[in-house]
Amino acid sequence: MIIDVLTLFPEAFCFLYNYSIIGKALENNIFTLKTINIRDFSKDKHKRVDDYPYGGGNGMILKPEPLFEAIMSCKNINSHVIYLSPKGKLLNQDILKTLSKKEHLILISGHYEGIDNRIVENYVDEEISIGDYVLTGGEIPSMVLIDSIVRLLPNVLSSVDSYEEESIYNGLLEYPQYTRPEVFKGKRVPRILLSGDHERIKKWRTINSLYLTIKNRPDLISKFQLEDSINDTLIKIIKSI
Ligand code: SAM
Repeated sequence: MIIDVLTLFPEAFCFLYNYSIIGKALENNIFTLKTINIRDFSKDKHKRVDDYPYGGGNGMILKPEPLFEAIMSCKNINSHVIYLSPKGKLLNQDILKTLSKKEHLILISGHYEGIDNRIVENYVDEEISIGDYVLTGGEIPSMVLIDSIVRLLPNVLSSVDSYEEESIYNGLLEYPQYTRPEVFKGKRVPRILLSGDHERIKKWRTINSLYLTIKNRPDLISKFQLEDSINDTLIKIIKSI
């Protein structure tokens, strides 16, 4: 996979080169990351890339010409162009699964009050929001997208299980996890996890996954296909809350 990021702050992405699994994936050429400075495409003698909004209002808008030129500098027939924006579709694991199959992603990181809408309408394939809040720029959202996509690429994590067992991927939040010591400040690890009884541990994890999901993210339960046996467990949990 090739990821090109259009940004006014290319230096922000240096962080990813040394960042854990993502840095390793870059080192191992599992994906290629390139930053493209939108300002390099400004024809203005002061390299300005923003202007006042038509119709008035606060702040500045990223002008269409430098953005258009920046997109065209890297776009090819396999490119999928994404504008990170609070007005976009809310990012979720299903969107990530689809994006992880693309050959070439172009990520537009906006700034100021956003970008000229003619770019969104005519040159963007998908507008994605990372959450219902507004950030200063699209750099952090782009990095969120890169991290969450790269984890799904083959040979990035040690085995498929490492992401398939994680929260959200299978539709539920992950069960609570513990490590040594067995007792920390008087609090014990649940005894069942030390029992070595894999069947009972599996059941404990399923019940706790369901419990956490109902408590913190009940919206996920309605989308999750439950087996009959889990359905019975679920009913018991709901009755006990
Ligand atoms: N005026 C815009 C609005 O109300 O929708 C917000 C602009 S925001 C201050 C500047 C840039 O940050 C946006 O162009 C976008 O690239 C990025 N951004 C901010 N919040 C975001 C979010 N929740 N998801 C993705 N990108 C976001």
